[in-house]
Amino acid sequence: MGRRRRKAIRIPRKRLPKVFLCPRCGKEAVRVEFAKDEGNAIVRCGSCGFSEKFPAKPSYKDIDIYCKFTDKYYGERKVSNTATL
Ligand SMILES: [Zn+2]
Repeated sequence: MGRRRRKAIRIPRKRLPKVFLCPRCGKEAVRVEFAKDEGNAIVRCGSCGFSEKFPAKPSYKDIDIYCKFTDKYYGERKVSNTATL
């Protein structure tokens, strides 16, 4: 009973997650790749193969591109009844 389990709980200290949740298939398999010479970023799901390309500023991070990706995905599914402000 009083036995202590020495279980090392490791929290990976990564700066940011590199893999994101796919809005289409729901798996954590979305990666963002930057094509610096083109000034674009490609978001691609390793699970369902869904991909999108976005213009990326040098200051953009993975998460910024991912946000655009999800925004666009959900934005397209909704029949636009509201204009983007
Ligand atoms: Zn997917």
